Amino acid sequence: MCSFTEESKKGTAPFDVESIRADFPILSATVNGRPLAYLDNGATAQKPLPVIEATDRIYREHNSNIHRGAHHLSNVVTTLYEEARERVRSYIGAADTAEIIFTSGATASINLVAATYGDMTVKKGDEVIITYMEHHADIVPWQMLCARKGARLRAVPLTPDGRLDMEAYEAMLSDRTRIVAVTQASNVLGTLPDLPRIIEAAHKAGARVSVDGCQGIVHGGVDVRALDCDFYAFSGHKLYGPTGIGVLYGKRELLEAMPPYMGGGDMVDKVTIEKTTYAQLPLKFEAGTTNYIGAIGLGEAIHYLRGIDMTAAWEHERALTRHAVESLSQVEGLTIYGPEERCSIVSFNVEGIHHMDMGMILDKMGVAVRTGTHCAQPLMAHYGVTGMVRASMAFYNTRNEIDRLREAVDRAVTMLR
Ligand code: PLP
Repeated sequence: MCSFTEESKKGTAPFDVESIRADFPILSATVNGRPLAYLDNGATAQKPLPVIEATDRIYREHNSNIHRGAHHLSNVVTTLYEEARERVRSYIGAADTAEIIFTSGATASINLVAATYGDMTVKKGDEVIITYMEHHADIVPWQMLCARKGARLRAVPLTPDGRLDMEAYEAMLSDRTRIVAVTQASNVLGTLPDLPRIIEAAHKAGARVSVDGCQGIVHGGVDVRALDCDFYAFSGHKLYGPTGIGVLYGKRELLEAMPPYMGGGDMVDKVTIEKTTYAQLPLKFEAGTTNYIGAIGLGEAIHYLRGIDMTAAWEHERALTRHAVESLSQVEGLTIYGPEERCSIVSFNVEGIHHMDMGMILDKMGVAVRTGTHCAQPLMAHYGVTGMVRASMAFYNTRNEIDRLREAVDRAVTMLR
C-alpha cells in the first residue's frame, strides 16, 4: 500500500478555524509589515501541509515517470497517481475512474471538450449557449469552436440583480442547440446558477451540458451523477491542491465516442507508421508525461478536505460572506455586484476610486484581494465598468480578516477621495 495518508480519515473533527489555519504555513506570513489577510482565494487557494509534504516527499523519495517502468519507483508513483484518480472520482461522485481525465487545469479541460466533443457534434448553423457570467476559459474555446464550424454562439443575459435570466435561457434552447456551457458559480458575482433546471431543460432540447466547476467545487462540492451534467471541469490549485493539474469529468459513453485531443506517448494502444489505435479511457486523453506529482498532490488535498467537516466549513464561509457584505455595504458610495444568495465571493467598486488604486492600498495594509476584469470582460461590459475589486474567502479566513478588509477600504476611501 503506497498511500501517503490513511484512507480511514473521516471528516468528523469539529470545525475549528484556528487549528485549520495552522495547517496552512503561508497564512502566518506578514506582508508590508502586517499579518497577511489572504482574500484572493478565487484566484488560487493556499496549500495545507499534507499537500506540500506529499509533493516534497515524492521528489525526495519516489520520483519516477508513471505507467512505463518495470521498476519499483515507477510502480510506486503509478499506484499513487491512480489512487489520486480514485480520490477525485469519489469526491465528485463519478461512477468510474475511466471518467476522470487529468489535465493541466480547467482551461485545458474545457478546451478538450470544445475541440473533441464540440468538433464532433457542432455543425454549420448549430448553436452553443454560454452565459454573460462565464470566465474567459468558458467563452473563448466555444467561440473558437463556433468560428471553426460556422455555428452561432449565444449568451444568456443576466437579471438586474446578477442572476441568470432563466426565461431568456429557456427561450434560447431549440433543436439547433448542441452544447450549453455554464459555470457552477460565478468567479466575480458569486452567483450560483440553478444547474439542475439548466441541465434538465438542455437535455429536453437534446443538448449536452458542460459545467465549469472551478469555483463551485470549492464552495459547495458537486455530485456529478446527481447533477446529471455531461462534462465537469475544475482546477486543482483552487481546491487547495498544486498548480498545473486539473480534471475533466465526462460521461463514459461521451468520452468513448470522442476522438483523442492530443496525440503522443501513453495515449496509444498500437502504433505503426500507417495507423494508431488508442488506449482505453482515461489514458486516451492523457498524452505525454502528465503532471503526475500535481495529480498526487490534488489527491492529498481531497483527502485533507475529507478530514474536515465541510458542512461546517462552508457555513463558516457563508457567515464570513454575510459579514463582508453587511460591513462593506456601510461604506458610502460602495457598490457590491451580484445577488444576495452567493458563494463566498464579494466584488465591489467605490464611486470615484479606481479598482487598482483600491487594491494597492489594501495590499499596503496586508490585505490581498484581486482587482481588474477577473477574466470576465463581457461581465464588466454588462456592468459598464473597467474592473472590480474582488474579495474571495476560504474556510481558513476569519471574521477579523474581514474587519481588516473593511478598515483598509475605509483608509483607501479617506486617502483617495
Ligand atoms: N473558470 C472559472 C470560473 C475560474 O474562476 C477560473 C480561474 O480563475 C477558470 C475557469 C480558469 O481556471 P485555470 O486558469 O486554473 O484553468
